[in-house]
Formats: sequence, structure tokens, C-alpha cells
Amino acid sequence: MKRRPCIAGNWKMYKTVAEATALVNDLKPLVADVRTVDIVVCPPFTDLAAVVKATAGSNIAVGAQNVHWAASGAFTGEVSAAMLREIPVAYAIIGHSERRQYFAETDQTVNDRLKAALAAGLTAIVCVGETLDQRTQGATETVVGTQLDGGLAGLAAADMAKVIIAYEPVWAIGTGVTATPAQAQDVHAFIRRRLAARFGEGVAAATRIQYGGSVKPDKAAELLRQPDIDGALVGGASLKAADFAAIVKAGV
Ligand code: PEP
Repeated sequence: MKRRPCIAGNWKMYKTVAEATALVNDLKPLVADVRTVDIVVCPPFTDLAAVVKATAGSNIAVGAQNVHWAASGAFTGEVSAAMLREIPVAYAIIGHSERRQYFAETDQTVNDRLKAALAAGLTAIVCVGETLDQRTQGATETVVGTQLDGGLAGLAAADMAKVIIAYEPVWAIGTGVTATPAQAQDVHAFIRRRLAARFGEGVAAATRIQYGGSVKPDKAAELLRQPDIDGALVGGASLKAADFAAIVKAGV
């Protein structure tokens, strides 16, 4: 089954409002003719309204980099799903490894955030991935399987229509070391088997699984040719319009 690729840019804590607007205005004409790939940019919260405005009427959707699990409340520094929908933002990244590493994100909080995102109608990009130590110890499937089971706990098969999984080996994020297409494909196939066991073959076959970790224009096409790789979550290279456009076009 051919799934529609989704290429998402995670801008992390880069780009002021002015810089974000300029970046997306540079990107728009470069990808304007792309019809067969879902294109998403995920700027910092402060840029979301400006980027939504700048992308109106284009084929670029906008996502947040996180979302809180509560509808509202005394959660200083957090942003709810309803607040994102009002902008309106369509996607949210959940459980990025930097959130897990620096902000005490756990599979439980990933699951809580995911349920809130889905209830508000957001499409969630749920990140999983092992560290280098875990890979060296042969624990990749145990770690990724546990993250999937915990992160997706309590979801119904129908919920998966709005879930994208991003396999992001921690050792490949921001390091310039990309997983080989074979390494990535192996884990993607494992993830799809795990989804099949949990939600059935139909859901597993329909769910998009992105690869993330030092995706660059020269690496994208071969990664995206792998049978179980349905897109990319791109950090550093998404900050340059030409590089991100080249990765999007590798998915066409
Ligand atoms: C990311 O932040 O999700 C990521 C994959 O970053 P990079 O492409 O820079 O490795």
C-alpha cells in the first residue's frame, strides 16, 4: 500500500517572527507545485500565528512542537490543544527526544498530550527512538516498542487516522550521522508490525511512519524509497528553504 508521504520541518527554538515569515515565504514558491506530499512546518509557539497567516491558501500546513494535556489551568508556560486549534494549527509534535531528554517527558506524558491533541482534532506526530547506548546494547526494539505501547495506550484503531509516528534515533538527531536506509527500514518495519499487533493490519498499513535524524537533501531520496518510510521529520535542514524544498521533492 502506498501511503501519502508527510515531510515535516521541526524548527526547534529557531526563528523570530520576522525570520519565520521570511523562511516560509521563501519556501512557498519552491514547493508550490507539490501535490502528492503533505508538507508541514513546526515553528516555535510565538511564530505560529504569523506562519499560519503567511501559509494561508498554500500547500504548507502548520504544526506546534508540543501541546499540553489539560484543556486549561495553572500550567505556567504550557499551551493547550484548543489554543492551537484556534490559531488554527493542524499538527503537533509530541514526545520529541529533546523534550524527553531535557523536559522530563515520559511515555505517560506523551500519552496524555496525544489524547488531548486528538480530542481537539490535531494530527499528532509522535516521536520514538533509541539512544546510541540502547542501540549498542541491542535494545532498540525493546525501547521503541515500549515507547509505542506507552505513548499510544488507550487509543482506538480509529484514532490512528490522525497519528503519524516519527522514528527518530536519538544518535542521529542533530549529529550529522544519518541512519542508513537499511537501519531505518528495519525499525520502521518493526514499528509497523507492532501497530499491526495492536490495532490490526489495516491500521498498520495506513499509518505513516516518518524517519527523523540528520535528513539532508542528498540522503532523503534513498530513505524515502524504503517500503516502510513514509516521510521525514527534519530539523536542521528545515531551516533552509532550499534544503527543505529538496527533501519535500524527494518525496514526490
Ligand atoms: C529533529 O529535530 O527532529 C531532527 C531530526 O533534527 P535533525 O534533522 O537536525 O537531526
